[in-house]
Amino acid sequence: MTGRPEILWPLFGALGKLDGIGPKSALALAAAHIEKPRDLLFTLPHSGVDRRRRDSIAQIQPPAVCTVEVTVGQHNAPAQRGRPYRVMVEDAETTFQLVFFRSHGDYLRKQLPTGQRRVVSGKVELFDSIAQMVHPDHILTPDDAADIPPFEPVYPLTGTMTQKAMFKATADALSDLPDLPEWIDPALREREKWPTWHEALLQAHRPGSSADLAPTALARQRLAYDEVLAHQLTLALARAQSRRGKGRATSGDGAKQRKVLAALEFSPTGAQTRAVAEIAKDMASPHRMNRLLQGDVGSGKTLVALMALLNAVESGGQGVMMAPTEILARQHLEGLRPLAEQAGVVLELLTGRDKGRERQGKLAALAAGDIQILVGTHAVFQKDVEFSDLRLAIIDEQHRFGVAQRMELGAKGEAVDVLVMTATPIPRSLALAQYGDMDVSVLDEKPPGRTPVTTALVATSKMDQVIDRLRAAVAEGRQCYWVCPLVEESEVSDMTAAEERFKRLRAALGEGVVGLVHGQMPPKDKDEGMRRFVAGDTKVLVATTVIEVGVNVPNASIMVIERAESFGLAQLHQLRGRVGRGSAKSTCLLMYQAPLSETGQRRLEIMRETEDGFRISEEDLAMRGAGDVIGTAQSGLPRFRIADLERQAALMETAQTDARKLLLDDPALETDRGKAARTLLWLMEQDKAIRLISVG
Ligand code: ADP
Ligand code: MG
Repeated sequence: MTGRPEILWPLFGALGKLDGIGPKSALALAAAHIEKPRDLLFTLPHSGVDRRRRDSIAQIQPPAVCTVEVTVGQHNAPAQRGRPYRVMVEDAETTFQLVFFRSHGDYLRKQLPTGQRRVVSGKVELFDSIAQMVHPDHILTPDDAADIPPFEPVYPLTGTMTQKAMFKATADALSDLPDLPEWIDPALREREKWPTWHEALLQAHRPGSSADLAPTALARQRLAYDEVLAHQLTLALARAQSRRGKGRATSGDGAKQRKVLAALEFSPTGAQTRAVAEIAKDMASPHRMNRLLQGDVGSGKTLVALMALLNAVESGGQGVMMAPTEILARQHLEGLRPLAEQAGVVLELLTGRDKGRERQGKLAALAAGDIQILVGTHAVFQKDVEFSDLRLAIIDEQHRFGVAQRMELGAKGEAVDVLVMTATPIPRSLALAQYGDMDVSVLDEKPPGRTPVTTALVATSKMDQVIDRLRAAVAEGRQCYWVCPLVEESEVSDMTAAEERFKRLRAALGEGVVGLVHGQMPPKDKDEGMRRFVAGDTKVLVATTVIEVGVNVPNASIMVIERAESFGLAQLHQLRGRVGRGSAKSTCLLMYQAPLSETGQRRLEIMRETEDGFRISEEDLAMRGAGDVIGTAQSGLPRFRIADLERQAALMETAQTDARKLLLDDPALETDRGKAARTLLWLMEQDKAIRLISVG
């Protein structure tokens, strides 16, 4: 596949060639990522204006848009500068005024000659109980008036573009639409009654009523489907390629796993056992594993990870687990090393803080195979880190990486099985969009013995009362996290906020009771602060969101979050997941700055209503939209122009199944439908996918 198919060329031409778009508008549009006719066509109207012809403005309830034929009456030029120019007109039942500001009389007299008939369309308003239409949108002779669409699409506007210019430009682009081959499965298209691509664009841009603008309109569904299908094809191609890549069959004898399980005080949940089996099956196959382990906070992903790592070790290989922060890496070391020792397995830690001789020593042991399991931060993937026989790479709490980064990682170790773990419960449609190239295991069952967390909302003004309660709780031997507000400007101000709070709490609760950790601290101090809290030396830990992911202190039973309204729901959920891990009754206090906005209030109430991470994420999606839920910039989630992951969620699932099936039947995309799918990939600018086909 050498280049973009010729049939698509008109869609990728210069935007400035279209009617209604001058050089200036072209620049403004480009700034809004509308650079080609294709982009313009994928920019759909968001609403519409009813411009059906009426006999009289008396038939509508002002203020509203009305289209009527009138006889032009007297012109009243303004007597003073700055006053409006008025033209009296009469429709079938009544008279009203057309009003113009800063307009030339000559021009208006030509447009609206007294005594002649005109069709005018615009918003009718009452001003001092006189009906008037200020700057009509359309003034046309009755002959030309047929050009006014009965239902006029309203586009999102950019720069100097007007609705008229958008209408003209889209009309021009629509008049030159190629007939593209059909890439959608014929049975699916028939079942859904979707129009062809060509028809769909015409209908989407020239709606007949507001029903045609809804996400459920067939034309919009089809165009959205095209978009998600292209995305899923890309993911499916990536998946097919990574599976084609030589993998290694890794299957241990289970001896070390059994030793570890015997040493645990609990038995794995059904979900954990299932996930361990799914992973073992992948590792045993000669394909390379590319699996996501999704499980809410506290669902016990670490144990699943350890079982997989031991599987690699049992087969004579090595495993590595990367955590996003030093604190978490260290926690994995502390939690996992004793277990590994039970099984006679050497587990080491490698982070950016390992330097010099010590680091060299670890690297040598790793290369010799004397270290069997390595945990650490991204330092474990540095160039000079060499393994003797790496078989499994695990990435913990990975919701910050996107598809592209995963692809890179896959390219790094040849034949290494990859397991990605995330605690971010995201709605299924988003999970498919973000992780559609992977196979997914879900821990949908929490270990027993968790006590529900009571969540309460408290205004910041009640801080003194909160501190009093804390004092009582500390006296009972309970521990507490105090999370400081996210201050937008910089990490430095986050730090200042945390230090201020630290001082105030220390003054209130006593020296030695309160600890502090934040991202700006030297790692050694941070670890020490964390260690003292875990050991129970400090009772209250003031922190920024560094404690967000993964930290596990079962004795901590109170979580205070300041300025909770400034956090995302997923983040609040993560933070709250830090408590309720022991047998003590736990509390989460969400402190907010009054007054809360209506959505702010609603969001915090959801936190109070449920602890179900999936329900929280669905609500979050409904309120904020896809990009925000996982943080678009880093999510690796494509920006869809048409598809709405929230309201068209089912499309993503269909697209994934369809894309995988298409590639199974036609791996090189050579059949007619396969070729059409290539056209789709070019149309949707899925460069990555196109490269994959080229090399495949
Ligand atoms: P996460 O999925 O958030 O990473 P962890 O793996 O940190 O969760 O597990 C949370 C806590 O639950 C840990 O203290 C762990 O020892 C404990 N745990 C894990 N699995 C079980 C189980 N099957 N029964 C009881 N406790 C468990
Ligand atoms: Mg974890």
